[in-house]
Amino acid sequence: MTDATRFLEGQVAVVTGASSGIGQASAIALAQRGAAVLVNYAHDEDGAEETVRRCSDLDARAVALKADVSREDEVRAMVAAAVEAFGAVDVMVANAGIQKDAAFTDLTLADWNAVLAVNLTGAFLSMQEAVRQFRRQGRRSSRALGKIIAMSSVHDVIPWAGHVNYAVAKAGLAMLVKTAAQELASEGIRVNAIAPGAIATAINRDVWSDETKSAALLELIPYGRIGEADDIGEAVAWMASDAADYMTGHIMVIDGGMELYPAFRDNG
Ligand code: NAD
Repeated sequence: MTDATRFLEGQVAVVTGASSGIGQASAIALAQRGAAVLVNYAHDEDGAEETVRRCSDLDARAVALKADVSREDEVRAMVAAAVEAFGAVDVMVANAGIQKDAAFTDLTLADWNAVLAVNLTGAFLSMQEAVRQFRRQGRRSSRALGKIIAMSSVHDVIPWAGHVNYAVAKAGLAMLVKTAAQELASEGIRVNAIAPGAIATAINRDVWSDETKSAALLELIPYGRIGEADDIGEAVAWMASDAADYMTGHIMVIDGGMELYPAFRDNG
């Protein structure tokens, strides 16, 4: 008898930046539903191996692969490695991202370029190579020809002082997702994004590990808690499934209400 909880059995996912945080949780959530997962990492081999081990513990196939998503040749090699290991790519989770924060006039060109290169160009390259692979392999076990999930942020719409490179990259990513979705829908390729609010991971450890800073952050979250990586991983697994087959070009906000103008909750 087939196990209804393993609704991604036979599907192959590539998750970029899966050695920690949201990428790791996404890889594990996909594996729990039966998907085979290529666990991409940039530097943290131990983290990637930990993700692979946790996927394997869920009876899913998983391999770790080092690749810098801002480099075209490495992204091509990453997708080729998934095909080599598992025969196809059905789901691309373009999750890798970095922050290099600075006040507007202190931000160096190098740090502007670095954040755009990973958070925007890296997603573009990962999505583009996935689409090429979807076309090469043709329709498989899902209703869609292929599925792309990009990791945006509430800062694709909320301006963020001291983080202009990050906010601009995420705003660009949101338009990248919508435009690609429009262009690719007729082929049966679904392109969506998730816009997380504040999720406790390595990227913002300085905030949630500090009592004063985390209290200030909670003021911005009507639901009253900082998010966990699993809050996002669960949505990734659903978005990749046929249950979400009619969804494309959508940015799903998962933020405990951060985008709800919390400053107005006491009548402004
Ligand atoms: P994280 O630092 O734990 O994860 C980021 C991952 O990206 C790491 O595994 C890192 O190694 C990888 N990475 C960085 N540069 C890379 C490169 N060049 N090539 C491949 N991988 C690379 O932080 P996270 O919070 O899990 O972030 C994951 C994504 O979620 C990012 O895109 C981030 O912008 C987004 N996001 C996070 C939050 C949050 O509050 N944590 C909120 C909104 C959006």
